[in-house]
Amino acid sequence: MPRTLGPELRLALAARIRYYNEMGIYDFYRRPSPAPSLALDEAEIAISEHTLAPGEEMSPRKATAAPVAIEENIFEVIALKPEQTVSDPVKALTIIREDLGDCTRCVLHKQGRKQIVFGVGNPKAELMFVGEGPGADEDAQGEPFVGRAGQLLNNMIKAMGIERKDVYIANIVKCRPPGNRTPEREECATCSPFLMRQIAVIKPKVIVALGAVAAKTLLAMSASMMQLRGRFYDFRPAGMRSNDPHWDGCKLAVTYHPAFLLRDPRQKGEAWKDLQMVMKELGMKAPKANT
Ligand code: SF4
Repeated sequence: MPRTLGPELRLALAARIRYYNEMGIYDFYRRPSPAPSLALDEAEIAISEHTLAPGEEMSPRKATAAPVAIEENIFEVIALKPEQTVSDPVKALTIIREDLGDCTRCVLHKQGRKQIVFGVGNPKAELMFVGEGPGADEDAQGEPFVGRAGQLLNNMIKAMGIERKDVYIANIVKCRPPGNRTPEREECATCSPFLMRQIAVIKPKVIVALGAVAAKTLLAMSASMMQLRGRFYDFRPAGMRSNDPHWDGCKLAVTYHPAFLLRDPRQKGEAWKDLQMVMKELGMKAPKANT
């Protein structure tokens, strides 16, 4: 049965959801359909939560006003991400970038960033690498993994028999944390919905989380690198439904961040084991070593 809501409530709901969308929040959960007598209670709560602008008056409730029928899936309709109506991934990623705008959603926007580092690579990549956040070189150039750690990542990609342009590379947060500090959980939570949208557009087969921050944020779990590595996880971008019925998420593997490998090169062998696991999953063969 379609639920009926009055026009004021509908406007209040739409305004509230738009507000959350502008904050980068797209996940809305519906309780099971309540009995008809409860629908009015919910409506009253929603109206009472609508904050009036200065000078704005609450319209008197009109008992005689004809209720407007709305579909059961009002939340899904309003919360649809704009890029989900676009089939071209390049255009879809552009829409997400435009939506991000000159982002001020978390404190990192005012802590010395030069620019937002959105992501780079093949928009149809089968393999995606996700790091923690931009460093000084990335902040300066507007591209993830371009410094020393980026050079090592390039070498790791090359060792897999592919090139940097074949994969997509992004970070959990898109602005440089000052002094290369670890991004705070709140900053990750605020920024990562945009990464989730990028993932849903790219639809990779495998994501490699580089380091603990990326792994913990993507998997929404807390564990040590030792516990996280060495296996695949079934991954779906949080809060996203793909517009592609053939893509229902992907595999996710965890390995060391290249910056960590620069500090402790002894772990490179372990990282190579992780990448070999990924290659096997993707049906890739390592190039023959030059002799
Ligand atoms: S880190 Fe992300 S959420 Fe924070 S200001 Fe930058 S783009 Fe916005």
